[in-house]
Amino acid sequence: MSENTYNSIVVGGGIAGLTSTAYLARAGQKVLLIEKNKECGGLVNSFTRDGFQFDAGVRALEDAGIIFPMLKDLNIQLDVVKSEVSLGIENEIIHIEDLDSLSGYRELLIKFFPESAGEIDAVLKVIRKIMKHMDVLYGIENPLFKDLLHDRTFIFKKLLPWLPKFIFTVGKINRMNMPVEEYLKTIVKNPSLLDMISQHFFKNTPAFFALSYFSLYLDYFYPKGGVVKLAEALENKILEYGGEIKRETKIIEVVADPCLARDQNNNTYQCDNLIWAADLKTLYTIAKTDGLAPKIKSKFEETKIRMLQNRGGDSIFSIFLEVDEPLEGFRKIAHGHFFYTPSKTGLGETHRGELAYLLANFEKFTKDQILAWLDKFTRLNTYEISIPGLKDPALAPAGKTGIIISLLAEFDLFRSVQKAGWLDEFILQFESRVLSVISDSVYPGLQDKIIARFSFSPLHIESRVGSSEGAITGWAFRESMPVINKIQLSGRSVRTPVASIFQAGQWAYSPAGVPMSILTGKIAADRVLKRVGKFRKNARNRPCSNC
Ligand SMILES: Cc1cc2nc3c(=O)[nH]c(=O)nc-3n(C[C@H](O)[C@H](O)[C@H](O)COP(=O)(O)OP(=O)(O)OC[C@H]3O[C@@H](n4cnc5c(N)ncnc54)[C@H](O)[C@@H]3O)c2cc1C
Repeated sequence: MSENTYNSIVVGGGIAGLTSTAYLARAGQKVLLIEKNKECGGLVNSFTRDGFQFDAGVRALEDAGIIFPMLKDLNIQLDVVKSEVSLGIENEIIHIEDLDSLSGYRELLIKFFPESAGEIDAVLKVIRKIMKHMDVLYGIENPLFKDLLHDRTFIFKKLLPWLPKFIFTVGKINRMNMPVEEYLKTIVKNPSLLDMISQHFFKNTPAFFALSYFSLYLDYFYPKGGVVKLAEALENKILEYGGEIKRETKIIEVVADPCLARDQNNNTYQCDNLIWAADLKTLYTIAKTDGLAPKIKSKFEETKIRMLQNRGGDSIFSIFLEVDEPLEGFRKIAHGHFFYTPSKTGLGETHRGELAYLLANFEKFTKDQILAWLDKFTRLNTYEISIPGLKDPALAPAGKTGIIISLLAEFDLFRSVQKAGWLDEFILQFESRVLSVISDSVYPGLQDKIIARFSFSPLHIESRVGSSEGAITGWAFRESMPVINKIQLSGRSVRTPVASIFQAGQWAYSPAGVPMSILTGKIAADRVLKRVGKFRKNARNRPCSNC
């Protein structure tokens, strides 16, 4: 093979691409991972500033029966701690320790909405049921990461008894695929209560996925040294297995037949199979399909239209703070992973109808009117607050604390403000409002102890990882989804209309997150290896013309 010719190329060094590459390298393939940034990890990423370590993307990881089995299968040791979660509304905070914490959650909601006790109990009944389904879903190590040819104990003692329960549960899950807001409206009439339960989920999140979060809170873990340690461990594994990684290389063209990728410097990389583990709108925009058979070409064009008609899901605005106060002060208030709502009023239409109207009529709104909307948005929202030092004290300088405060945010708002020419001012105003809300509520006086602050907007996410609309978990939840969204069909999620091109990661399956990105990364690698195996078998069976 010449220098730039590979068995497989993987584009995108996020967690999905790293997983695919590790498995292809382990199988002995000549494989190249191409990543546009200086570092791999994508949305699983941490960075250090002034001695404070922050997580730029996901704040903690959920095993979901996937991450630990993958680590075990690849023989990776990762030093992890439990990432404990707290939930708070106004001045009441509960800590999620175990299943019994659900009673604490009930009491928390009843304290604020005593007149809605019946509705709260009805929601909790559903959450309890879902938690039982989750126990089934994640009840065994994902079989994809097991050696099924040799591990007979796993097959007979775990997999076979689990399968019927899994099939039954999948039926139940599929019946709860409607948007969580709609689903909850059938149980909860009090709009503020409904907001307290659901306003921190992405718009139209499938009800099952959203209400399963209580289980996920108990599943969160944190690698010592930051979430980036997971990505680094996979990178090391790739190199150990003889795989190659090329950073600061952006793929700007993919040719379907013969399969090749071209980078920003016009270097080409040829391969038998390509896994695209990045934004799919990008793939369908830059792919050249000239050499393909007409039927495949037209299927590709159809899929392209569906991809381009859809949008990335919600994005996020994150503020990073270097604070001159010891970790202990914060430890007394909440755990290092904290979902906090400063007002029980709820967002109502602020982030929906009102925002949609503002965006549709952006030119008619004055700066003051937009900032007045921002006041309300920041006052009534739910925040995800992460303090890495509370999970691993080595991540903050002695006597100080690094804090990440984030909230869901609409990409189009930032884009419109940018077009109107006052993005920097808007971001400063956004930061100030969030800080005064948090300082006036859960962390009194925080504002006065800040040594330094900076933030990442949805526009940063779009430009850093090339994610359409700055999405942090792939596609927006809409009725027509351009990718597979049923767990029992997840095996098909990695296919594209072109046999030699596969897709993986948060854009290949919905709903997604780190575990699904890893799973699709593994499925894509398996598909490539199966295809290679088929070719070898066919070649062996073909009569040799030269002998
Ligand atoms: C703040 C935040 C909180 C989150 N919370 C959770 C959570 O609680 N639970 C959960 O499961 N998930 C969560 N997520 C989502 C999760 O992090 C992502 O879904 C997952 O990491 C996506 O991995 P990926 O590999 O599919 O994609 P990405 O991480 O987006 O990786 C894609 C990679 O491809 C590279 N790339 C793009 N285009 C090109 C190109 N043309 N050429 C070369 N390289 C390219 C990018 O630079 C990037 O490194 C969160 C994300 C964020 C940001």
